[in-house]
Amino acid sequence: MPILVMKFGGTSVATLDRIRRAAKRVGREVANGYDVIVIVSAMAGETNKLVGYVEETSPLFDAREYDAVVSSGEQVTAGLMALTLQEMDVPARSWQGWQVPLKTTDAHAAARIEEIPPANILAKFEQGMRVAVVAGFQGIAPDNRITTLGRGGSDTTAVAFAAAFGAERCDIYTDVDGVYTTDPRISENARKLDRIAFEEMLELASLGAKVLQTRSVELAMRYKVKLRVLSSFGEMGDDAGTLVCDEEDIVESNVVAGVAYSRDEAKMTLISVADRPGIAAAIFGPLAEAGVNVDMIVQNISEEGRTDMTFSCPTNQVARAEAAMKKAKEAGEINFHDLVADTGVAKVSVVGIGMRSHAGVAAKMFQALRDEGINIKVITTSEIKISVLIDRKYMELAVQALHDAFELEKVA
Ligand code: ASP
Ligand code: MG
Repeated sequence: MPILVMKFGGTSVATLDRIRRAAKRVGREVANGYDVIVIVSAMAGETNKLVGYVEETSPLFDAREYDAVVSSGEQVTAGLMALTLQEMDVPARSWQGWQVPLKTTDAHAAARIEEIPPANILAKFEQGMRVAVVAGFQGIAPDNRITTLGRGGSDTTAVAFAAAFGAERCDIYTDVDGVYTTDPRISENARKLDRIAFEEMLELASLGAKVLQTRSVELAMRYKVKLRVLSSFGEMGDDAGTLVCDEEDIVESNVVAGVAYSRDEAKMTLISVADRPGIAAAIFGPLAEAGVNVDMIVQNISEEGRTDMTFSCPTNQVARAEAAMKKAKEAGEINFHDLVADTGVAKVSVVGIGMRSHAGVAAKMFQALRDEGINIKVITTSEIKISVLIDRKYMELAVQALHDAFELEKVA
């Protein structure tokens, strides 16, 4: 029988009643002739609660014990979902990560999936089981300890199962009915996309559109998993959602697919560093070692052998970045006059594969921001994305202005 993967996020399994509603959707696909692998998240809020317990008990916690605690939310929903299906006379059982086994690296709290041998679950399907309910987010390290895949990781569990089992599709059920051109809470003109290319989704996800974990989109792109995002709250049978797919499967699209933002950015400038070979390595090496996620980087024109170096990072990593730079300075690896942190900025980006073949996207973006009197502090571009740093207080305005300027409310 063909296999379908259905993933239910935390809000979709937040109560017993919602688990029942999700189970009905599973039952319908079983009736349609699929063997179903259901991936569940923990009940909404549960993982945050567990993380809180860990942090309160041990601020500098042992990540292996963190994983032992925070993986437990999914164990509960997997069992409850299996019981609910059994009550509906659907042959189902639950699987924890280690039982499958879902093998991962030993990078606790941020483990990567290495392998999912399908034999155990397939054997059960052959014996007449119709649904395997798998606890998302968790796996097992080479030393047999429980791991987790990073927050939001059950999306990645779902896509990895779809790839490993050659599933016909991977349906991600969530509390929104698809992927939007921008956050509907910011622009009332935001429109749900019927389709979006893997690469665009990857950019949007990494820019902070929280629908899918970035890693899950990477995996789907690599293994060409047909990925669908849809609401578990709508009418059954209203399965529109958004299909995340190959570029070739998108017939017509706007040049820009969406506007993304990230609110908590900081702009850090090292004033007057020596302009010499190896200076960038001497700065960004220690930052990487300190675990600072550097995003944009700009080096100024140099004067008299000195230059300014600007980079952006999340606001909650500013202290770590400052410490790393101070240490490198004291060790004599770099020299600078001052390190200036501007923690009041936000990043706004436009994303679209159409940019590859259309000129003028940057100009249009900058004009739209100019018309609102918004000053741009840093600009970076890639083949399918243009990002700017601006004052945080203009973030919403910038998102709205760009959405309007590119007429994203209209279908191409
Ligand atoms: N429960 C985990 C989290 O909240 C994993 C997930 O829901 O995807 O991050
Ligand atoms: Mg999620």
